[in-house]
This record gives sequence, structure tokens and C-alpha cells, in this order.
Amino acid sequence: MPGRAAPLEAIPEVFGHIHSTESFSTVDGPGVRFLVFTQGCAMRCSFCSNPDTWSAHGGELVSSKDLANQIRRVLPYLKSSHGGLTCSGGEPLLQPQFTAALFREARAMGLTTTLDTTGQGTKHKNWDVVLPHTDGALFCIKSLDPEKYQGMTGLKQIGALRFAHELTERGIPFWARYVLIPGHTDSDRDIGMLAEWAARMPTLSGVELLPYHVYGKNKWEAMGLQYPLEGVQTPGAAAVRAVVSRLERAGLTVLCDAAAPAGLSAAHTGAHC
Ligand code: SF4
Repeated sequence: MPGRAAPLEAIPEVFGHIHSTESFSTVDGPGVRFLVFTQGCAMRCSFCSNPDTWSAHGGELVSSKDLANQIRRVLPYLKSSHGGLTCSGGEPLLQPQFTAALFREARAMGLTTTLDTTGQGTKHKNWDVVLPHTDGALFCIKSLDPEKYQGMTGLKQIGALRFAHELTERGIPFWARYVLIPGHTDSDRDIGMLAEWAARMPTLSGVELLPYHVYGKNKWEAMGLQYPLEGVQTPGAAAVRAVVSRLERAGLTVLCDAAAPAGLSAAHTGAHC
């Protein structure tokens, strides 16, 4: 929470690899947010918009103190909107000390902290380092079907579910992000499983439904990789609205720009989902 700040001198300087930053996001947590996209991800999602974040050794090596100074320059509008810092990726939980240092800097400035994650690093309980400094999370749950999850991401689903459980145990509010991919995550069974799981998450604020888009395809091609979802189209507005209605009927709060999926912000093309 803002105000639970440690003195600045108590926060260590930690170096981390980042892909990029954005100083004005309105769709990745409350208020206006400074976004840090960390470098490195162990997943290989078939719909990934940013395969250039996969390599843990790429990106730019930066100091948490230098990033904190960048945040300070835009502090007035972050504060006036009750916004803060969001760490996305790549996967911020794969650089836990760096992410925690950034979150501590943000809290010391009176900002809120949001973790945009898929819950990686569960095996090593990286959450123990980061979650004590986390006010809220955006958690991308790729699929509730364990086989589909592994097929879409290359990783087992169990770690992600454990992470979601950890969020609830610690009382951390979170939004579940879900990518609606025609023929992959949009069947009656898929949506039913999502609704059922969401209903069992006591700190879940709601579901953010993200219609699949093809904006990342050119990056795969530029990296010499075959795009796995060749031929899959963005879902139509009516199909998206039908899923929104179904989730709402199940009692869930749903965020979705159903009428104009192509108008989603650049941030939504660059983060996990
Ligand atoms: S969508 Fe996110 S979690 Fe999946 S491979 Fe890309 S960066 Fe990693």
C-alpha cells in the first residue's frame, strides 16, 4: 500500500535486464502507470506478441536506482491519478530481486505496485521475494485445461495455479487476463472452466478478456521462427460479446473492449497476453 514505505537508503541497488519502458499506461493497473518490461521468459506461448523478450540475456542492463529516477520525473501525473508502477515482461518473477527493488522504490514514492505475470519461478518460490512489495497483480491464465496450457506455453499449468493460490493466501487482489483465441481457448468447455476457476478465487477482482490479435506475428518472422497460429483470425465482436455475457452471468466482473478488439492499446500487444 502507498505509505508503507521503507527509507530510500534501505533499498538496495539491483541490476536487471529490461526490454523497454513506457511512462504512460492506462490499462495495466489502477490510474496512470509507469511500465517496465523485463527481459526473459521461460514460456513459449503460441500467441506471444513479444518473442524478442524471451532471451534472458538480451535487452538492456539497467540499475533499479536509475529506473527509479526515471519514474521520479513523471511522479506528479502518476500520483495525481493514484497510479504507480507495473512490472511486466517477459516475466518479472524471473528477476525477483530486481522487481522487488523496483517495487520498493515505487512504494517509497507513494505509488502502488502491480505485477503483470504468468506466475513463473514458482518452483523456487520467487514470489517470496516479490509479493511482499506487491499491491495487485494482472495474472495471465492461459488456459484452465492442463493439456492445452502445456501445449500453448510449453510449461506445466500446476505452477501457475499454485501462484494464483499464493495470491489469494496473501490477500493480494488480482485480475485474471485471458486471451480469447478462436479454436483454441473459446469453446464452451474452455469458458466454463475459466468461470468455475475464477469463482473459487476470493481475491479475484475480475476477468480481463483479451481478443487474440496478430500484431506479434511479424516479430516471429523477423526472428526466423514459424508463427504457430498461422491462419487464426481475431475473434469477431459478437463472439467476444457472447463470452463476456457468459462470464457476467456467472457473476464475474469482466473488462473487455469487445466492440473493437483491433483498438486495444499498444500495452496490450506487448505484455503477457
Ligand atoms: S506471452 Fe508472455 S508469458 Fe507467453 S511467451 Fe510471451 S512473454 Fe512469455
